[in-house]
Amino acid sequence: MSLTYDVFVNDPPPRNDGFLPNGDPKGGSPVASTLIYGSEEAVLTDPAFTTDQARALGDWVAGKGRKVTDIFITHGHGDHWFAAGLLAERFGARIIATAGTIAQMHAGVAGRPFLWDKIYGGKIPPASVTAVTVPRNRFTLEGHDLLMVEVGHADTDDNSVLHVPDLGLVVAGDVIYNGAHMYLGGSVMVGGFGPWRAAIDRVEALKPRHIVAGHQNKQLDDDGRRTIAETRQYLDHAGELLRTEKTAVNFFNAKIERYPKHLARTVLWASAAGLYGVRENPDGDVGQILAAAWL
Ligand SMILES: [Zn+2]
Repeated sequence: MSLTYDVFVNDPPPRNDGFLPNGDPKGGSPVASTLIYGSEEAVLTDPAFTTDQARALGDWVAGKGRKVTDIFITHGHGDHWFAAGLLAERFGARIIATAGTIAQMHAGVAGRPFLWDKIYGGKIPPASVTAVTVPRNRFTLEGHDLLMVEVGHADTDDNSVLHVPDLGLVVAGDVIYNGAHMYLGGSVMVGGFGPWRAAIDRVEALKPRHIVAGHQNKQLDDDGRRTIAETRQYLDHAGELLRTEKTAVNFFNAKIERYPKHLARTVLWASAAGLYGVRENPDGDVGQILAAAWL
């Protein structure tokens, strides 16, 4: 039996707590979850973070009529996995990730009161880290190999992607984006965009025909070559703007001018405010500056 896959994109939950410099209300970014399935079993990835998202995603998964064996988490950022426990319970599935991602998930739980709960209050379910590793980062679905490939730093540390060779598919988490603003603040921890570019190279080396980006405009296709090229181009453009633009607001405006249709301008503002906040406060606490840029 051959495998197939389908993608469910959860819209960001509403915030109602203020506006961006251009007057848009603050929001979030859509989160994509992928269901890879055979005739009877399925594997789910990155099941988003609020109770409402878990319900919507869970109903969609249930409609596929497969037994979910595993839920794979690409990286530690809470918006990709705080709801994982609810889905694991509903479907009797195991949660799996690389050792590096599991360490980052613990960091995500520790940081939650200072970031996620401040923004989303009671919308996020209680979340503890129950993910486990699998031997050699490899598992199977109805006899087909699924590979957890460690690619290092992208928008945070210890990212991994899920490679499904028989589908020419990479589920790329936040290494590759598709029509949504990229979170760039983490680059100040690693001296720029070099590590992220290396992570993109590792994804490209897998020669994916299809890439599911963790944050995407669901109207767009999942062409591997295009999404890789556009993710690189976004970093190149950001690098130029960091040299030419003197303020966070100018960076924000210039990005919107270049990418008028991109979703998630709140992510763009969090990037700009974080990058320029760190630049303007060389003695400040970098973690605090980056977190405050989201609020
Ligand atoms: Zn993300």
